[in-house]
Amino acid sequence: MDEVRFAVIGAGMAGLACAHELARADAKVTVYERSRGLGGRLATRRMGQLAFDHGAQFITARSHTFNRYAEIALRAGMLDAWRPRIMEDDRAWPAPIEDWWIGQPGMSALVRPLARNIEIQSGIAVHELIPSQRGWELQTDSGRQNVTFRAVAVAIPAPQASSLLSPHGRSFRQIADVRMAPCWTGMFAFDPPIDIGADARRWTSGPIVWAACNSSKPGRPQTPQCWVLHASTGWSREHIDLDATEAASVLLRAFEDNLGYQLPTPVHRDAHRWRHALVERPLGLSCVVDEELNAGACGDWCIAPRVEAAFESGRSLAHSLLSMVGLASRMVRS
Ligand SMILES: Cc1cc2nc3c(=O)[nH]c(=O)nc-3n(C[C@H](O)[C@H](O)[C@H](O)COP(=O)(O)OP(=O)(O)OC[C@H]3O[C@@H](n4cnc5c(N)ncnc54)[C@H](O)[C@@H]3O)c2cc1C
Repeated sequence: MDEVRFAVIGAGMAGLACAHELARADAKVTVYERSRGLGGRLATRRMGQLAFDHGAQFITARSHTFNRYAEIALRAGMLDAWRPRIMEDDRAWPAPIEDWWIGQPGMSALVRPLARNIEIQSGIAVHELIPSQRGWELQTDSGRQNVTFRAVAVAIPAPQASSLLSPHGRSFRQIADVRMAPCWTGMFAFDPPIDIGADARRWTSGPIVWAACNSSKPGRPQTPQCWVLHASTGWSREHIDLDATEAASVLLRAFEDNLGYQLPTPVHRDAHRWRHALVERPLGLSCVVDEELNAGACGDWCIAPRVEAAFESGRSLAHSLLSMVGLASRMVRS
């Protein structure tokens, strides 16, 4: 039988869930990822002894399939439970009713079981999808790839997916209706450690909405003590053009305002700007496809601002693409 080749653009949870599902149907898959690492917004920034989960803080698993996936990752030692003491504004918060899971040793470990045996071209950004008689060719920042793919899956944030796909089919124009919010993330390390009355605090107003002691997560370095702060959507949008050093200083001051006292000078401070962090208005479909073009897109933005949604969307797109190219019978149901 002719080998059917698929390209997946993006190696976050959605892209790798899609690639894994295609590979389970014996398709040949190549994943293109702009960064050197995998995981996308499932990310841990390391500097010497310091570690900051500066994207997704934890995952929850609600669906049967994602629960099963979490169990596999748990057995492989790539997942651990995080049970922080939590406060909202100035009140203690009850323990969450569902488990909060983190990747081990970092958040990107959560995608590793999906990446096994998949060909991944990392450090290559795809700039253009070029339709050809036999399928799709890719224009990347390291030139035109010398491969034609029968089908293509775009698994990158909605605004970027929209610019790759909207020139090609009417069905992709709806991606422009999705709205994603930015998030400035502050990363601070303290030595000696600080005590703010909880391992994680939420605030319902003001520039900072979340502060978490990364060192309270199992398997993360304890000393110096690492903290991650998330700014609100409104504040992040308003201050999107700050440089990272300035953003870190402003976020630290806002954190102190929330606490009502001054903190010792951190031994490390930094900030990261996520331009497309959280889904504000999802597409409302599990994925988007064009059956005539053998192309589609997936990501959290199809469903909800959660890692689990990215996983479900990636699987859904893989199933649609397999049907489109006549491989539905090879689909492995689980
Ligand atoms: C600050 C923050 C906090 C969050 N907190 C939580 C949380 O606590 N719990 C939770 O469940 N979710 C949380 N989320 C959301 C969660 O991280 C996302 O829902 C999920 O990781 C999205 O996965 P994805 O695969 O759809 O997209 P992404 O993770 O964004 O993956 C897309 C990938 O595509 C790559 N890419 C982009 N453009 C190109 C291109 N042109 N060519 C090649 N590659 C490209 C990117 O480098 C990236 O690796 C948070 C997100 C942020 C930013």
